[in-house]
Amino acid sequence: MTRRQFTVAGLGAAAAAAFSTAFGPDQNAATMLAKFTVSQGQPPTRADKVVKTDAEWKKILDADEYYILRESGTEIPRTGRWWNNKEKGTYHCAACALDLFQSDAKFESGTGWPSFTSAIGQDHVFAKGSTGFGYLQSEVVCNRCGGHLGHVFDDGPAPTGLRFCIDGNALDFVKA
Ligand SMILES: [Zn+2]
Repeated sequence: MTRRQFTVAGLGAAAAAAFSTAFGPDQNAATMLAKFTVSQGQPPTRADKVVKTDAEWKKILDADEYYILRESGTEIPRTGRWWNNKEKGTYHCAACALDLFQSDAKFESGTGWPSFTSAIGQDHVFAKGSTGFGYLQSEVVCNRCGGHLGHVFDDGPAPTGLRFCIDGNALDFVKA
């Protein structure tokens, strides 16, 4: 093997290891995500669920909120609400006001979207589980109104290994 071949081979292995660490399925994260994922039924599953027609939602939500919550859109990074908010408080669904995430679980992901390691609970945030592309990605939905919030990935930091990547325009913030 020439020196050049050796270097290229070495880089390939290192890159593969880095990719596996960053994006490989995480057993702990999968277990954690199972707590938010219900295979039976579709959200919303709460007794106090909110069901409205598209016309009714359009009267309540502004265009940015409607695009995320009712059309499963995705805001451009660093253009939505709260991605850079560091205040203590609680994040609520912008459609139905259900509390969804605590500021204690928020972390700087560098993505430009508000990111959390956990949600308040399965009764609040519902992950529509699926796996694909060698890593885990699930749609995250409000369990009171069924509104689309974002996605959850298994490449988050401790303690859960999860990264709830949420569109800020789906959230209201209530300062503690
Ligand atoms: Zn909601």
